[in-house]
Amino acid sequence: MNLLLGHDKLLLFLERTAREGRPAHAYLFSGREGVGKKLAALRFACLLNCPDKRNDPDDSCQVCRRIIQGAHPDVRVEEPEKGMIRIEKVRSLNRAFRFAPIEARYRVVIINDAHLMNLAAQNAMLKTLEEPPAFAVLILVSSRPSVLLPTVRSRCRRLRFGSLPTESVALILERKGISRSKALVLAAMSTGSAGRALEMEHGSFIGLRDKVLAAFSNPGATGIRGALELSAAVSVDRSTAIQAIDIACTWIRDVLIEQIGAEGMGKVHVDLLDRISEAAQHQSSEQLISVYEELVKAAELIEADINVNRNLVMDVTLLKALRIMAGPGLGVAIAGG
Ligand SMILES: [Zn+2]
Repeated sequence: MNLLLGHDKLLLFLERTAREGRPAHAYLFSGREGVGKKLAALRFACLLNCPDKRNDPDDSCQVCRRIIQGAHPDVRVEEPEKGMIRIEKVRSLNRAFRFAPIEARYRVVIINDAHLMNLAAQNAMLKTLEEPPAFAVLILVSSRPSVLLPTVRSRCRRLRFGSLPTESVALILERKGISRSKALVLAAMSTGSAGRALEMEHGSFIGLRDKVLAAFSNPGATGIRGALELSAAVSVDRSTAIQAIDIACTWIRDVLIEQIGAEGMGKVHVDLLDRISEAAQHQSSEQLISVYEELVKAAELIEADINVNRNLVMDVTLLKALRIMAGPGLGVAIAGG
């Protein structure tokens, strides 16, 4: 449970609900991927069933530990299989809800990515939602609640999970063994989703960032060849292209923050302060803002149209960006090959 951070108000609400012993029969925990919705649902299952009525369930309580490990007979977490939650699964949940809990006070079923239930499965679920037994607590967890049937949604108490503060994401990453400086960069880039930050950590984010920032922090040396090579490397797929643009945009923002001395606005690339300060002395704000505009245009094009030629968009954008920043310097690099 030590990876659940943030959402203080929602967690307090759940604690109070559990303490008063009057949970609703169905909840919908909605919010972006990776902000801790499923962990909060598990924690709620602990709070409802902990014999010690602890507010901070952990390994030292046998009941809470089994719930967290998925080994408690009365608490079930259902995950989609092959991107779907099928009607057979929902029918088996309906059957489970016919029986009183074996050990615990409440029988809790958590359905993760509940929007992956198809229509038939959702309709089957209505059966339990319409006539829930007294001991039943069903928690639907979803990042796309609008896909759920209105009849399903209206029977659930809705809790909306917002994005996490950067510092909370950084702390979660540090608890996963990631160094402080790297955690801060990933946290700032993930815009409030610990899950997203961890995905970036597992993927090749830091390598991608090194490539993009090598070009943007030294546009003259990058030259036309470097710009085209970078373009080819980041155009492999849509998400890499968008991520590369995000990296470049946050870099430019960091340099602008340095120029106006607004430290409170929070830089992203906090492990590269020397390079940010150097760039701030060599680039004008006007240049940086023009580059920023080019990058945003490219991101819009790539996000809006799946048929757009990404490589071409990135070629043009990176050449323009580096030419604006390097001035005639980019020309020298062409002459030099
Ligand atoms: Zn407990």
